[in-house]
Parts: sequence; C-alpha cells; structure tokens
Amino acid sequence: MPKSFDFEASNNRVYVTHFCKNKACNRAFLDIDRYNAIEPPRWRYCPECRKKGFGKRKKKNKALSV
Ligand SMILES: [Zn+2]
Repeated sequence: MPKSFDFEASNNRVYVTHFCKNKACNRAFLDIDRYNAIEPPRWRYCPECRKKGFGKRKKKNKALSV
C-alpha cells in the first residue's frame, strides 16, 4: 500500500484560485488563501500585473502636499 499523501503538512499553505484585480487582465492565478475564501478572491493582482507595477503604491500623495 503506497504511503498516503501527507495532508497535514500540505495544509499549512492552502492555495486558492484568485482572479486578477485588474479588470483588463482578469487572469486566474493561484495564491495562498489567507481568508478561507469560498469564492475566488479578487483583491490581488496576478504576478504578471505585479511585474508591470500594478498593486504598488505610487508616491503620488507627496505631490499633493504642496
Ligand atoms: Zn493581471
């Protein structure tokens, strides 16, 4: 009998499908499920978009405080 898959260990990190926050992209990607999501979350940008700079805070506010 083969050794069964070690569920306990793999449960440390639960991955879930996310949808990209960028509506022009809408890519599905896997990321860690931090909130026990039932539906695919949409609050993150996919790795592609993050590479393009999405999700990074631009220091625009500095210019406002003139
Ligand atoms: Zn994206």
